[in-house]
Amino acid sequence: MSVELEEDLVEELKIAVAAQAQEQQERSKKAPLEELSTETPSPEALGASGERDKDGLLENKSPYTLPQGYLSPSQIGMLQRCAYQYYLRYILGIRRPPGYAAVIGISGHAAFEQYYGDKIRKAPLLNEKQLLDLAMVIHDEKILELDVPVSVSERDETAQTLDKLLTSYIPGVAQFIEPKEVEVRLNFLSKCGVPVLGFIDLLRKPYAIEMTAEHVLDYGGLHMGDHKFTGKKWASTKLQNSLQFYLYSMGSGILNVEIHNLVKGSAKKDSSSEKPRKPRAARKKVVELEEGQEALPDLLAPVQDVGSNVRILRHRFDPGEFTHVENIVEDAAKQISAGIFPRCDPEAWCCNPQWCGYWDLCRGKR
Ligand code: SF4
Repeated sequence: MSVELEEDLVEELKIAVAAQAQEQQERSKKAPLEELSTETPSPEALGASGERDKDGLLENKSPYTLPQGYLSPSQIGMLQRCAYQYYLRYILGIRRPPGYAAVIGISGHAAFEQYYGDKIRKAPLLNEKQLLDLAMVIHDEKILELDVPVSVSERDETAQTLDKLLTSYIPGVAQFIEPKEVEVRLNFLSKCGVPVLGFIDLLRKPYAIEMTAEHVLDYGGLHMGDHKFTGKKWASTKLQNSLQFYLYSMGSGILNVEIHNLVKGSAKKDSSSEKPRKPRAARKKVVELEEGQEALPDLLAPVQDVGSNVRILRHRFDPGEFTHVENIVEDAAKQISAGIFPRCDPEAWCCNPQWCGYWDLCRGKR
């Protein structure tokens, strides 16, 4: 399954899982967008206020008819990739079980949510072994719930992969982060009145170096973080051009975004030509180290490799481009409302039985 599809599925699952959990629990206790954006001003034209439905979601104030009443980055991504896929998934409501890669992502997310949640609650932190156990419990539950076939050897391989990732990520990245909120629901009205819904994995407080006089204007305030489990490392352009994070940045007013890229494949398979910056000694003083701990080498670098299987990508989004993003949202809403769902070019990378879950209902139908 392609990296893009895996990520969309993880996003979609995160939205579904989080929405379900929030319905059952104290949704109202989550920090509302209005509070989150106080440290970094929201774009003026984007109001987070508005009438909400029984689930607390902003109501569609646009002239466009949307099957779910809102758009999400994964919906727009599917529409742009193949509008006919969107039609089958969201108009006809035909769901296909996610690939196994999506389950691995969900399991890893659960471990990180627990770790950062405990930090916020000032509760005792689970060690890497305990986090792995938790991730595998979630893994097994999701396998059953989503009816994803997995062999014993695949499960063992997943446990080994998650073990390596946790062993790199927790001491190399997570221990330095001061989280403010995890799994934050982001729900805002775009300029055309279409509600946009998404979930932010992590909001963190700025590092000391980001609050220095030299950097505070660019890096002060909250930073948004997202975990991406992928086979290959992300290049920096993937974050810089990400519709998901343009939307999240626009809707939250938080311009600084960082991807915590957890790489499931071997580091030797990394095909990226980008070279991480060398550590600068001065920045090692940013955090107070206990004996034997390694510091994040460069907290401001746009691309930073932490160990062989964790990459941090950082980008500050430009509000000058938000009008373009607004246009993308409205174009998608117009197309859906008009009921125009063309099949994609047969040459498109997604149009084959490996990557299209709807192949048997479309191009592969006999
Ligand atoms: S088979 Fe091709 S055209 Fe049909 S839904 Fe899949 S990607 Fe779209």
